[in-house]
Amino acid sequence: MNNYAFATIQTLKKALEKKEISMQELVALYQDRAQKLQSLNAIIESFSTDSVLKNHEPKGMLAGIPGYIKDNICQKDRITSCGSNILKNFRSTYDATAISRLRSQGALFLGRANCDEFAMGSSGETSAYGVTYNPWNQACVPGGSSSGSAVAVAAGLAPWSLGSETGGSVRQPAALCGIVGFKPTYGLVSRYGLVAYGSSLDQIGIFSRTVYDTALVLSAIAGNDAHDSSSLSVGAQDYTKALTDKLPQGLTIGVVDNAMNAEGLHPEIRQANLDALQVLEAAGATIKYISIPALEYCAASYFIISRAEAASNLSRFDGVRYGSRVSEKTLKDMYNATRSSGFGTEVKARIMMGNYVLSVGHAKDFYENAQKVRRLIQKQMEDACKQVDLFVMPTHAIPAFKVGAFNDNKLEMDLQDYYTAPINLAGVPAISLPVGFTKDNKPIGMQLIGPRLSEQLIFNVGHAYQQITDWHTKTPSC
Ligand code: GLN
Repeated sequence: MNNYAFATIQTLKKALEKKEISMQELVALYQDRAQKLQSLNAIIESFSTDSVLKNHEPKGMLAGIPGYIKDNICQKDRITSCGSNILKNFRSTYDATAISRLRSQGALFLGRANCDEFAMGSSGETSAYGVTYNPWNQACVPGGSSSGSAVAVAAGLAPWSLGSETGGSVRQPAALCGIVGFKPTYGLVSRYGLVAYGSSLDQIGIFSRTVYDTALVLSAIAGNDAHDSSSLSVGAQDYTKALTDKLPQGLTIGVVDNAMNAEGLHPEIRQANLDALQVLEAAGATIKYISIPALEYCAASYFIISRAEAASNLSRFDGVRYGSRVSEKTLKDMYNATRSSGFGTEVKARIMMGNYVLSVGHAKDFYENAQKVRRLIQKQMEDACKQVDLFVMPTHAIPAFKVGAFNDNKLEMDLQDYYTAPINLAGVPAISLPVGFTKDNKPIGMQLIGPRLSEQLIFNVGHAYQQITDWHTKTPSC
């Protein structure tokens, strides 16, 4: 039975169809593992078996396949805490569109996955529910902010999970945990029911073991939704249909030269990315070196825009409309007390910085310049995609780091978003694939990035890569 713990959705679907395992047994297996691996702190709440199986849809492309949901995506009648004390008792009154679509395709929801508070972080250390640990090395972080969702898949607690992306929160933890992490084109997956952090950047993303499984989950959740005004007019489609073992004919893949030679990139990550490129070249792709100079300003631009939008979005948590309230004599004192005790340090710092960069005296220097960089990166990525079909960058500069490593050195945190945030600024899709391990057995990721709505091509290339390599089949010993 334990053979199924690390199985793909594709394998599980066959096993369920052939009745080699029942949906009930599968749920019990994962619940058992979640119980045994509680020390990873990946799960905030495991739902009861009865409630997982209640009213489930028996048919659909994910029939009977359980997964975990990041705790900032609304599931009707369940708590959605965003890893924060301010929402620790908040119950959602409706399903996010991604959830209702998964539900109608037969998917099962095992529980709520831990995350950095309001999706703010790169390590899984800012959650009010405590640090999440990396199953490959429990002294290390799993990355973030979708820390629990990544660990759930990496540790064999489920074959898929949902996370959210504002600046890399699915791809980065996927890389640090040795699994596949995908961020769709902005507007392809509805944000309805995803608690907002930086609305112009936010997208729901997918974790799984294989590109095929990611394509399958995306097929269930993608497509236009009238509830989200930024939703694209794109219909539903089956992204698994066109997947073949071979790379598309005449494919040109770009390597971003300045990204490969960026200061601070870990040499073993650089090498593993170059090795993966060689595999793609041997499989028939033409490799071309390109440069995207605006990358150097993206982490700073992301820093400003995300804080500005966070400051506006989080003003709704005022003790009146949502979540917990600390009663005080005056309205102002109630706001103060509620927000002071409800939010953690990282969230408060971001709200303050966001209000600062938007303030009358500073918006010109900070916010407006950040928007200019955003337009620049969009343009340079469009230009890059005229020369190549897709391009490649590492997902993260360093492998999984020790818990607490950045406590006194917040500045270096910029390194965290260098490779991922430009993709959110540009609104394009990207996938992080496992492409190797460091000498001390920490997973390494590589991103495939394409123009807007190039999901199918990204999946075709990623899937072909996974037919020739076996990095995605490695599992931690837990
Ligand atoms: N590391 C980034 C941050 O802390 C990414 C967050 C995200 O994508 N939600 O802002």
